[in-house]
This record gives sequence, structure tokens and C-alpha cells, in this order.
Amino acid sequence: MTTTSRAPRIGVMGGTFDPIHHGHLVAASEVAHSFDLDEVVFVPTGKPWQKQKSDVTPSEHRYLMTVIATASNPSFTVSRVDIDRDGFTYTIDTLRDLKAERPEAEFFFITGADAVAQILSWRDHDELWDLAHFVAVSRPGHVLSIEGLPSDDVSQLEIPALAISSTDCRARVAQGDPVWYLVPDGVVQYIAKHHLYRSKE
Ligand code: ATP
Ligand code: MG
Repeated sequence: MTTTSRAPRIGVMGGTFDPIHHGHLVAASEVAHSFDLDEVVFVPTGKPWQKQKSDVTPSEHRYLMTVIATASNPSFTVSRVDIDRDGFTYTIDTLRDLKAERPEAEFFFITGADAVAQILSWRDHDELWDLAHFVAVSRPGHVLSIEGLPSDDVSQLEIPALAISSTDCRARVAQGDPVWYLVPDGVVQYIAKHHLYRSKE
């Protein structure tokens, strides 16, 4: 019997994950299923260059919430490449570092409608297409526009609409509203334990 081996197919889900929520997890799961991925690596950003002005929760909290949220899924992993790199996070560096760790793998960068529209403004965007295939997922409230992006390198995927955002989760916690079932149970408990997102008096 012969076995044909193929390059591992790895999804990359980059995000601030402040906090990680079920929108992120559903997007990762749907792309993994549709693109026959072997693994999805969640990569919490260090300092996101797009969010320089706003307060972002310290990266160790965001990293641990991501680990908690993905722990039960054997094909989900979490990488520290971005939080361990100094300076702002650029997707090109994320992909270069992951490629250096797993040179044999084929990468699929998963990104929401809001982020995909901005790819052409990302650093070294010409080189991005050599490092990964891009999968743009639909997201309620955001129009998916892949105009101007190379069609061979970018695919679109409709996913079940989950109108959840981290911004909304933070606002809910600050107001004392529940985030049960918007984020995984362990993340609800982590937020409470570490008093994250409480409104500052
Ligand atoms: P914030 O409100 O703080 O910007 P967010 O909910 O957009 O947070 P991010 O960490 O910024 O979460 O998102 C990481 C990636 O996940 C982005 O590509 C984003 O488009 C995608 N994403 C976030 N929420 C959803 C969702 N509900 N459905 C599909 N994709 C999503
Ligand atoms: Mg966002």
C-alpha cells in the first residue's frame, strides 16, 4: 500500500483577540472544513499597527484567553510569534516567521471582510501572496470587497453570520452586561478573574 503525502495545510488566524469570541472560532472552523486544513494556528498580535492609538489589553492576557478558547479543539493551536516579536505587528512578519518554523507547509491566511479590504495598505503586500493563500470570510455589517486583490491568491467564503465583535464584548463587560455564549465559558471566567474590560472610573 502506498501513501501519498501532501504538504500540511495550515490556516493562520491573526487577530487582536481582545477578547477572542465565537465569531473568530466559527470562522476558523468553517475555513478549516472548506479548505481541508490540517491545523489552524491562532496568532494573537503584539501591538497591532492599526490600533496604535487605542488601549489594547496586555498580550499575555490575550494569549491566554486564546489558549483557553482553543484548548478543546485538537486542530487548533496558538502561536507566540507576534507577541514575542518587538515592535508593531505586520502580517508579512507573521507569515515569514511561521514559514521559517514550518517550511514544508502551505499557509492559508484567514481574514474578515473588514481586514481584507485593507490588505493593499499592508507592509510588503506584494510578497504576501507568495507566502500564503488568503481566505476572506464574510462578516455581518462589513461588505466583502476583494476588488484589486489578485484573484488567484484570494478566496471568499460565506460563513454563518455571527454579529459578534471584540469591541462589543468589551463594551458589554464595561456596562455589566453578560458575555456568556458570545465568548467561550473559560474566557468569561478569565475576564472576571482578571477584572478585564471594567470601565475606568
Ligand atoms: P475589534 O472589535 O477589537 O476590532 P474584532 O472582533 O474585529 O475586534 P479582531 O481580533 O480584530 O476581532 O479580528 C481578527 C480577525 O477575525 C479579523 O480578520 C476579523 O475580520 C475577523 N473577525 C472578527 N470577528 C468576526 C466575526 N464575527 N465573523 C467573522 N470574522 C470575524
Ligand atoms: Mg477588528
